[in-house]
Amino acid sequence: MILLKISELLKKETLSVSFEVFPPKTEAGFESVKTATEEIAKLCPAFMSVTYGAGGGTSKYTLDIAKNIKELYGVPTLAHLTCVSSTKETVKEKIEQIKAAGISNVMALRGDIPKELENADRSGWDYKHAVELVRELKESNGDFCIGGACYPEIHPESTDSREDIRYLKEKVDAGCDFLTTQMFFDNNLLYSFLYKIREAGITVPVIPGIMPITNANQIDRAIKLSGSFMPQRFKSLVDKFGSDPDAMKQAGIAYATDQIIDLYANGITNVHVYSMNKPEVAMKIKDNLSCILGK
Ligand code: FAD
Repeated sequence: MILLKISELLKKETLSVSFEVFPPKTEAGFESVKTATEEIAKLCPAFMSVTYGAGGGTSKYTLDIAKNIKELYGVPTLAHLTCVSSTKETVKEKIEQIKAAGISNVMALRGDIPKELENADRSGWDYKHAVELVRELKESNGDFCIGGACYPEIHPESTDSREDIRYLKEKVDAGCDFLTTQMFFDNNLLYSFLYKIREAGITVPVIPGIMPITNANQIDRAIKLSGSFMPQRFKSLVDKFGSDPDAMKQAGIAYATDQIIDLYANGITNVHVYSMNKPEVAMKIKDNLSCILGK
């Protein structure tokens, strides 16, 4: 039986791994992304998430890809949706489209503030925070399983972790069924974050997000986007292998695998891998865990 709601899948006590893909930016890229996502779907992950282009630019493809994975491969899908650059009307329309596509899992996100609007007066915006989208999804009668984003190293706009966790609790109380974390490269940061949020009364499942860094160029971008701390162990690995693409890929996948094994050894049963439309990376990670998955 296929469990389509992620909240149900998360009740499993054995290790399960899910993968993330992103939609193409243009129509021309659609076929190659479709092929890559299908290759990943064939690995039978617990679920696959499909991101939503910043500002909603590639939103049409998010649903097309999520629907395709679900219908062709029976893999449960999680469609991301952002709200900050949208009107109420557009978001309502998107929610209806998600319902019509038969997708039951939605990741409710604010989205990044476009550069040119960073200093704008936000008082007239239809959406300022993800919590408003969570409430809207709840009110839509879509019977959605709703995910929210969280940040073990705090969101870059937050002044401190206490404030970030207070708003996170507000978002969860509005109706999130689970949370997925921003990438992190030191598992201790995750363990300490989990301790703090549980103490703050946030009890929903948290899925750690693991990003396999497979080439040196990815690092600057990943850190800029996430503000993630790079442990010395990881820096040494990049220093040693960064200029050799094949070695860097192997070392990056090994590092991500090691993070996953440590998480599982410490009681975490669901891990989301930012597989970035790279079937070979998803495949390697699954291979590396072959004797551990399902145990
Ligand atoms: P929010 O939960 O709204 O939080 C944003 C900031 O506002 C935080 O600092 C928070 O503390 C603060 N805040 C929250 N509520 C309030 C309030 N009521 N009053 C004052 N401050 C408040 N981006 C995309 O464009 N597409 C994607 O598909 C996508 N997928 C993602 C998946 C994951 C797992 C993660 C971690 C991020 C993803 N992002 C995506 C990036 C995300 O959109 C950005 O990190 C964005 O800046 C914040 O989104 P959020 O939903 O966490 O926002």
